[in-house]
Amino acid sequence: MLRTWIADSVHKVGEQITLQGWVHTRRNMGKLIFIDLRDQTGVCQVVFLPNHVEALTKAAELGNEFVVEIVGQVNTRPAKQVKADVITGTIEIEAFQLNIISPAATPPFEIEDEFKEEVNEELRLQYRYLDLRRTRLHRNLIVRSEFVRHCRDFLYGNNFVEIETPLLTKSTPEGSRDFIVPSRHYPGSFYALPQSPQQYKQLLVGAGFERYFQLARALRDEDLRADRGYEHTQIDLEMAFVQQADVMATVEQMMIQTVEAMGYTVKQKPFPRFTYAEAMAQFGADKFDLRTPEEKQSKVLAYAWVTDFPFFETTDDASTGSGWTFTHNPFSMPKAEHVDWLLQGKNIEQIITQQYDLVCNGYESGGGSIRAHQPEILRATYQVMGYSAAEIEASIGHMLEAFRFGFPPHGGIALGVERNIMNLTGESYLREVQAFPMTSQGRTAVMSAPAPITAAQLHELNITIQQ
Ligand code: ASP
Repeated sequence: MLRTWIADSVHKVGEQITLQGWVHTRRNMGKLIFIDLRDQTGVCQVVFLPNHVEALTKAAELGNEFVVEIVGQVNTRPAKQVKADVITGTIEIEAFQLNIISPAATPPFEIEDEFKEEVNEELRLQYRYLDLRRTRLHRNLIVRSEFVRHCRDFLYGNNFVEIETPLLTKSTPEGSRDFIVPSRHYPGSFYALPQSPQQYKQLLVGAGFERYFQLARALRDEDLRADRGYEHTQIDLEMAFVQQADVMATVEQMMIQTVEAMGYTVKQKPFPRFTYAEAMAQFGADKFDLRTPEEKQSKVLAYAWVTDFPFFETTDDASTGSGWTFTHNPFSMPKAEHVDWLLQGKNIEQIITQQYDLVCNGYESGGGSIRAHQPEILRATYQVMGYSAAEIEASIGHMLEAFRFGFPPHGGIALGVERNIMNLTGESYLREVQAFPMTSQGRTAVMSAPAPITAAQLHELNITIQQ
């Protein structure tokens, strides 16, 4: 390819290069014109001088966000014009030729790093492809890509196998409402989009993939908040023949290796540990921020583990039958000394689960558990929650069946990618670290959904809409 990336142009002083990108800004100085040109790798200054009159004349037509090709020479800048904070701050491009590839209409808002005035969220999301041109958002997605790359590298280096699980699946109890997809072949029956790959990953471990991972999409129909959307991505993993300490050690190593490679500082290694009771007594919550005010200004990540959660809590939801529901994950294993209580259905409020949450800078950055791999333990969990034998069979009968065929002890975790990227970038809204997030009203970016479907589609699906 002919073009040089802008970030590489600093290494080409004295050479003639071809750049392609967007006009970030333009300054017309009368006899000369400066533009800042932007590509995926950065921004650099281009100068049009009267000695290349054709290019200079054309440059007068340029507006912000025009897509152009520039052939020019890389020159060093005089010492007093050097900009230390920009990667290309030591050079500028003297343009010989300008080719306007694609003109740009005036954008509905300025493409600048920080908005000078508040821009309406709906407008930003309607034109998300323009919003994403802003350096800050652009950088957030690059940080996200780097984070995932480092985690993947770690997992591949530690015998994990990356496996995808279905998106069209059966409702699985993860504590949220499901998104439902109607079936054309089975009128009146529905798929559910996965709230997590929880059961599939356990089944994969049973299938002999002793270390599984996936960048999994999780879909949950719950009320939207700054740090919660309908869709998010998890680094989802599961390991056979492990105890709680093994999963925690693996995740801790992955996080340290990843964030240190990205230039962040981990406040405390190994990560401090708190029981749920200690966290509640000390912080009044199970997620907390261990950074000092000074550390909040720098790239410090204060991780901590929280363990020893109560397995069950009471609920008003009449559908559970017994008044008890799980706090985190119904597939978890109680602490060894509490297994008998679970099997006998006694001291329910005192049963502690082998659940561990990873906390970082005030957010829950991940959560997982050692699972019940004996059918009688999982069955007992559902009995505590008031399920009848028939309801247990309908809900998790396939897991109980699978456990009969030589199932290894196992456990895992899911780390929320967005929450982790919010910590790495300092963003307080989930939408700033997703490419195409929903509006706070639950409408999609750029393409407006949910939207009605045609009468023919409804007919095919055997669905009638009540007016
Ligand atoms: N499935 C759990 C969740 O999505 C995570 C886990 O226990 O691995 O929260």
